[in-house]
Amino acid sequence: MTKTLLALAAAFLATAASADTLIDNVNGIQVGRDGKIQQFRALLIGDDGKVVQTIGRNVLAESIAKLRIDGGGRTVLPGLIDAHGHVMGLGQAALRLDLTGTTSLADLQARLKAYAAANPGTGWIQGRGWNQESWADKRFPTSADLDAVVSDRPVWLGRVDGHAAVGNSAALKAAGVTASTATPSGGRIESGLFVDAAMDLVERKIPAASASDLDRALAEAQRLMLSNGLTAAADMGATPPDWAAYRRAGAAGRLNVRLLAYAGGLDALRAISQGKPIGWLYRDRLRLLGTKLYADGALGSRGAWLKAPYRDKPDTRGLSFITDEELLRQASYASALGGQLAIHAIGDAANAQVIGVYEKLAATRPGDRRWRIEHVQVVDPADIPRIAKAGIIASMQPTHQTSDRTMAEARLDPPRLAGAYAWNSIARSGARLAFGSDFPVESPNPFPGLAAAISRQDPSGQPPGGWRPEERVSFAQALDGFTRGAAYASFAEATIGSLEPGKWADFILVDRDVSTVDPQALAATRVLETWVAGQKMWEAAPSVGTGERGR
Ligand SMILES: [Zn+2]
Repeated sequence: MTKTLLALAAAFLATAASADTLIDNVNGIQVGRDGKIQQFRALLIGDDGKVVQTIGRNVLAESIAKLRIDGGGRTVLPGLIDAHGHVMGLGQAALRLDLTGTTSLADLQARLKAYAAANPGTGWIQGRGWNQESWADKRFPTSADLDAVVSDRPVWLGRVDGHAAVGNSAALKAAGVTASTATPSGGRIESGLFVDAAMDLVERKIPAASASDLDRALAEAQRLMLSNGLTAAADMGATPPDWAAYRRAGAAGRLNVRLLAYAGGLDALRAISQGKPIGWLYRDRLRLLGTKLYADGALGSRGAWLKAPYRDKPDTRGLSFITDEELLRQASYASALGGQLAIHAIGDAANAQVIGVYEKLAATRPGDRRWRIEHVQVVDPADIPRIAKAGIIASMQPTHQTSDRTMAEARLDPPRLAGAYAWNSIARSGARLAFGSDFPVESPNPFPGLAAAISRQDPSGQPPGGWRPEERVSFAQALDGFTRGAAYASFAEATIGSLEPGKWADFILVDRDVSTVDPQALAATRVLETWVAGQKMWEAAPSVGTGERGR
């Protein structure tokens, strides 16, 4: 007995000796291979930045690791992974006019006026984040509303979901858009409001961001990710200039998070990949996984493609972006290059279309393909069993449910709501979930997402009991969605997603035990430290309440 214990201790010390860093006395929480919550008290990290092992007891006294850190009982989680975000969009939004949380048109106008005064010149003013659904009259803004504040330079302001934008008269003039301009298919124009495909009429005339603008935006996006506890994200819709900025940062050692990139469409895929998949670069900091395509728009701007008309606008079923044949053709082309596919589908008609395309592709492209549907927001309950069967990963964003709840009830009648944001039904059908935020559409902070996933309530606890609470998932499933599930969805489970021997030591320290607090407290979790590859990359300011936080 004693002999065995001594042998065990010797074996442990031998492992400990090869480790550079010991983080001891922590409340470590992660999801195990069996999908259950697993706890640990200490984490040993090698000098290569990878996990040596997690240990179920405190070992500070006996360890000879070079750097020994007493975690003071604080909670440690694997670095969280956002399975669907827009990295450059996050950084650019932070540098542009922020219209999130505007309470009225007058509020938007006041912020525009202040921004124009603070940023003088003749260049375009770009902003994003307004949501007319949270204004009393719910009326979309118009060109005239913007002209009343700024008329001497172009102004272009995107809706919170990125599926609509409003321009002032100077912007329409600069873009050459007049009353006789034809509306492109898959789009709509109303009094200076451009929806989906129509947005490009103006956006193609906005001068492109310079390389240094993009570098600044990437630095800002990384700061926001790290301060919110994100050590990796799937970047949905990278452009060639975005990719070039990621490469510049990687080559200069300034890439401090891991980016799992999906090219924004086939042209971007061709330009970035030159026809070949791109494996991990810069010690697993950057990888091109595949292509992001779109099947429809979004629910807020009534661009989501539905099987039956909108409840609050019976003359429309939304916008179909692409025919079945064309989507299949593009998807086959992209997957032939060896890449993964991530297709945006919000409405039940769009989800049925994408499932159908993947069913066909699965027959011609066998193997471990991990077809992804992005959002999977409204699915006909009859189509849910087809998701797992076709080997599709459901990439979903829990905070969309809490933000969209009342809007979804207006747009859809109750039978269709049964398949809306249906995390639990989709998980129970056997499909793998990956969770994200869709930043900057929503805040990059993953904790309100974890809380929404287990409660179907927003951070203020609304509605009591949760909205359609049968679609809640367990805490283990929610954490899996932001760690292992998100890694799996991007073929990254061998390197990240959990603290296991040989994987990167990407982890965070937070200010509370996220596995036991109530959902509202979970949503308010503060990140204290963020580590990537065994290095502390971000730390909260010491005094509580003044810590650096993303919105
Ligand atoms: Zn998105």
